[in-house]
Amino acid sequence: MQPVMTKEELLTKLENKNPKADIALVGKAYDFAEIAHKDQRRKSGEPYITHPMAVANTLIELEMDDATIAAGLLHDVPEDTSITLIDIRKEFGPEVGRLVRGITKLGQLKYRGIERYIENLRRMFVAMAKDIRVIVIKFADRIHNLETLEALPPEKRERIAMESLEIYSPIANRLGMGEIKGRIEDLSFPHVSPDEYEWLKKKVASRYKEVDGQIKTLSNEVTDILDEESINYVSVHGRAKHYYSLYKKLMENNRDLSKIYDLVALRIVVNDVSSCYEVLGIIHQEFKPLKGRIKDYIAQPKPNGYRSLHTTVFTHQGEIVEIQIRDPEMHNEAEYGIAAHWHYKEKDETKKIKEKTLWIDQLSKMQQEFRDEDQYLESLKIDIFHTRIFVFTPKGDVIDLPEDATPVDFAYHIHTDIGHHCNGAKVNDQICTLETKLKSGDVVDISTDKNRKGPSEDWLNFVKTNTAKSRIRSWINKKRKDSLQRILTQ
Ligand code: MN
Repeated sequence: MQPVMTKEELLTKLENKNPKADIALVGKAYDFAEIAHKDQRRKSGEPYITHPMAVANTLIELEMDDATIAAGLLHDVPEDTSITLIDIRKEFGPEVGRLVRGITKLGQLKYRGIERYIENLRRMFVAMAKDIRVIVIKFADRIHNLETLEALPPEKRERIAMESLEIYSPIANRLGMGEIKGRIEDLSFPHVSPDEYEWLKKKVASRYKEVDGQIKTLSNEVTDILDEESINYVSVHGRAKHYYSLYKKLMENNRDLSKIYDLVALRIVVNDVSSCYEVLGIIHQEFKPLKGRIKDYIAQPKPNGYRSLHTTVFTHQGEIVEIQIRDPEMHNEAEYGIAAHWHYKEKDETKKIKEKTLWIDQLSKMQQEFRDEDQYLESLKIDIFHTRIFVFTPKGDVIDLPEDATPVDFAYHIHTDIGHHCNGAKVNDQICTLETKLKSGDVVDISTDKNRKGPSEDWLNFVKTNTAKSRIRSWINKKRKDSLQRILTQ
């Protein structure tokens, strides 16, 4: 748990992180929140202000902008006190006002039956589509609530922790916020599966010490080699895997810890992309790589934007260790994801953010297409909670699709007309059926037939994306209506 800070400590921390920060604005937001919450206490008995303070502290660590930090301090004011959103807007201007309003509208995500749950998800995506910073504040809020769960009765603890694992962590992952995702999961895990957590802690403890020692030795060897080759590096250090992701990986590997090569990985940060490849080459000359474990996420980033080179090698002592190589920009994005674009260092990133968050827009619009609750939940699960694959057009553009998507999904993703008229596909230059399941890295070439009347109803049996489903359905509905019309006017 974070120690309780004073206002001065918070402002000093902000100023150290960002000398250009608007200290006056953040200080004013603090004073405003402190007065507004002055008669309230947290369930733990602490003064309420400790909560917005912890939220602001996390937002400062994420290097968010001034308006977001101020909104973090004010986020519970309209909900819990007599002060209104209009007062906040008057005092802090429209931007802070909008952010606080976004969080207030989001309300508390409470798991009260499936309908409420879906309604909450909808509200969340609508808020995210308007301003993604709202969800970043919500993450910081959730992290502190998880850190202080002990003050709540056990059933409530489990519910909040479960919700965090099922809703917040997949969204953080999809936004590329690796550090936040890891923190949310590690804080939730002990409350959701206390026995499993204890088991893992015991199992890992001794092995962890061993691996940590191996990494230290390897790290010294690597820095010596880099010095010899006159390669400038930013840092070389060991990085322990987050507990919960370790647990999930163990479950996939029959609980066999010896199969996990990245319990602690060696992370090498160098100045630029070409140095990344150069270092990979040097590493492979010195340490024999394990077959099939070299991953170039720079040339082919993960769907959430993650970039790095990964390789697994045999050390001189015969141990197997994972090495990750990246530049500072990749590092920043891997830790902070979408939040990295609000860092004070980077401006005019609006277009980039728009492209990266297109899927949020789609999700928020989906609520109009899917009136049926079950359908909506099913499609949400496919769109964010499932693994995504990335495939290529013949020109090399990357298309992000859900797992098991088919050439028809691909065609509709490109354009509705291409979807309606597609009659064949080549995957990696091989002719394939339209229901072939695509895999990451496939190059997909769709052939169309102008004379084709439209999609086949059978396609609904195998398409995976909501775009394809809804386009096919609406074409079929229209056709039915048209023929009905013809019959009626005959
Ligand atoms: Mn709160």
